Amino acid sequence: MLETTNVLITGANRGIGLEFVKYYLAQGANVIACCRHPSEAHELVTIKREQPDKLAIQTLDVADPESIEQAAMKLANLSIDILINNAGVYGPKGYSFGDVEADVWQQVLQVNTIAPLLVSQAFLPHLKAGKLKVLACITSKMGSMADNGSGGSYIYRSSKAGLNAVVKSMAIDLAAHQIKVVALHPGWVKTQMGGSNALITTEQSVCGMTQVIDKLDNETSGLMINFDGTAIPW
Ligand code: NDP
Repeated sequence: MLETTNVLITGANRGIGLEFVKYYLAQGANVIACCRHPSEAHELVTIKREQPDKLAIQTLDVADPESIEQAAMKLANLSIDILINNAGVYGPKGYSFGDVEADVWQQVLQVNTIAPLLVSQAFLPHLKAGKLKVLACITSKMGSMADNGSGGSYIYRSSKAGLNAVVKSMAIDLAAHQIKVVALHPGWVKTQMGGSNALITTEQSVCGMTQVIDKLDNETSGLMINFDGTAIPW
């Protein structure tokens, strides 16, 4: 059980993020569920009613650097054991070679690539104060060069490839603080983003990824790891 463990999750109002909330609450952890619009996060509000002492809901729009700073300041006295940069967007579909637009690309980069670094920077003092010192970023194997056999998806692929580079550098830079950093591929998951044809449920995905988090050590820090525990080549 994780009674004294504090877990912060971004994009926690639905999909994989919400499943992380449920999983860690079931383990007895204290969860800080971050989302853009708490008043519209109905599932989180219902859970909070049932477990008011274990769940805190924090406003956080990861695309807005000011919102990130405000959340970090609001939680200034809190130590964080596990920080999960989960919030992500796919961006509009149908942009193939020849019609990619810069502004659309920039919006996706802001959420998927830039925000995880800004959130990690803002919450570094909280992580340093925590016991477990785990920083997990939810990536996608669509960001893997080695896995790209079909081309296309320029915007999403490049945003997650960029995130992978961020993870690798943070793993090196934060090792001095004993912070372990990992890029987790959740599998193809039935969520709004993954769609109904996806292969696994949020429960299966989170069950696997949390096992990876549990086992994270200096050897596995700085890797991209699938929800089933296998390493994925960059
Ligand atoms: P969903 O679309 O179901 O959920 C995305 C979450 O991210 C929502 O909570 C959403 O909040 C949040 N979010 C988006 N933009 C912001 C923002 N600016 N600030 C704060 N929160 C934001 O997707 P998944 O649960 O499937 O995805 C979770 C992560 O897993 C993502 O990083 C995704 O790239 C990754 N992933 C998913 C796969 C899949 O098959 N599902 C496969 C590979 C990777 P809101 O409701 O406010 O929009």
